[in-house]
Amino acid sequence: MTACDAVVIGAGVIGSSVAFELARGGRRVVVVDKGPGPGAGSTSASSAIIRFSYSTRDPILTAWEAAPLWANWADHLGCVDPDGMITFTQTGTLVFRTTGYDGERMRALWIELGIEHELLGPDQITERFPHLDVGKYHPPKPVDDPAFADEATERLSAFYEPTAGFVDDPMLAARNLAYAARRHGAEFLFNRAVVSVERAGDGEAVTGVTLADGTVVEAPVVVNVGGPHAGRINRLAGVTDDMNIGHRALRAEVFMAPAPPGAAIEDGAPLVADLDIGQYFRPAPGRQIWIGGTEPECDELHWVDDPDANSEHPTVEVWETSMMRMARRMPEFGVPSQPNGIASMYDASDDWVPIYDRSSLYGFFMACGTSGNQFKNAPMAGQYLREIIDATMSGHDHDRDPVQFTGPRTGQTIDLGSFSRRREQADTTHSVMG
Ligand SMILES: Cc1cc2nc3c(=O)[nH]c(=O)nc-3n(C[C@H](O)[C@H](O)[C@H](O)COP(=O)(O)OP(=O)(O)OC[C@H]3O[C@@H](n4cnc5c(N)ncnc54)[C@H](O)[C@@H]3O)c2cc1C
Repeated sequence: MTACDAVVIGAGVIGSSVAFELARGGRRVVVVDKGPGPGAGSTSASSAIIRFSYSTRDPILTAWEAAPLWANWADHLGCVDPDGMITFTQTGTLVFRTTGYDGERMRALWIELGIEHELLGPDQITERFPHLDVGKYHPPKPVDDPAFADEATERLSAFYEPTAGFVDDPMLAARNLAYAARRHGAEFLFNRAVVSVERAGDGEAVTGVTLADGTVVEAPVVVNVGGPHAGRINRLAGVTDDMNIGHRALRAEVFMAPAPPGAAIEDGAPLVADLDIGQYFRPAPGRQIWIGGTEPECDELHWVDDPDANSEHPTVEVWETSMMRMARRMPEFGVPSQPNGIASMYDASDDWVPIYDRSSLYGFFMACGTSGNQFKNAPMAGQYLREIIDATMSGHDHDRDPVQFTGPRTGQTIDLGSFSRRREQADTTHSVMG
């Protein structure tokens, strides 16, 4: 048996950030992960895009607050990991406006929060980013739709925000956070699965977890940061009954392809959110492009009942569709002859907004439902959980009176109730865009 102040289940980028914040707040932390090391779960497949284009205020503000932490990573960690540190590459982001998404609500929030941006007309987009075709192809279609190859009838405009970018190595980000957490005394147990969440005799408070090898780790605080396995862990803990927002594992395929002229980092290419064709993409080192989907209506969603059984091999169907759509947006895009990608999983919530919250079981907390869009917010998620845990364990009722977080960058208040498991669904794109 081991005893500590807090058990964190999962050492992904968010679990490691939670561990870092709890440990530097003075708690003795044990992180348990069934995988071989930090960030080896869904974090390892992340596109690691840092952008601010969400639909609602608190997620935008969270991303805006997190961005300087990525850019000044050693300052955030308070150390330099001798095994290497991530780097942030600034590219700017282009958010296309199309039918069903004019981006005006986001723009009003950007103005309110002081996020500088420009509205670019089609000619301005072509002038600055000549590799992009500005044709409107909406709605996104499967490749066998006879209308797939139709000519565009209109031209798109877009919002451009210059400070967005990406982190070069998402797994290393988790490793860096784990290193920083260890410096504050956190202990990491790898290749050890949590199989049971323990409660006190009266069942009202968590007392720890039991691992597959029979080890019991006792703690008054347990945090579920199990990524695509988080739903399973919440069920183990018996805390799903009072949740108004569901979350479950969803297959997500991402691909790498050679960048055509103009589309590489060296060319000043931005990352692009493109609900018009149903894809997002960003430049990547080595003149490559990283490509993912935005769950357009015509694409079937593949929910995963058993996250342990997900095949990491991408499917020809999703690869072909993604490549053909990219070829519409970039006329010089050369469709590769072989798929190069990975099929990972999101833990998608009902409204694609994460759940950072307490639960109905005293001492049991969750950072889940991260919906394919919370890598960028990991440094803030750790701080949010710490605030919620500190408040709850000192007797504050976060459900009735949600903790308010003051963002150090903006001085603005972030209502942590907007990430509550009991919230009404937020009005979002219901896609990875949030
Ligand atoms: C393909 C893809 C692209 C993405 N792109 C972006 C992006 O561009 N920008 C962005 O902001 N976000 C993006 N995301 C989302 C982001 O990467 C995730 O939100 C984030 O990595 C989740 O981190 P996590 O720590 O919660 O989960 P994970 O990294 O999945 O970690 C969970 C850990 O829990 C462990 N675990 C599970 N069950 C147990 C158990 N019973 N016992 C012990 N350990 C257990 C697992 O082994 C795993 O290591 C993307 C995600 C994917 C999949």
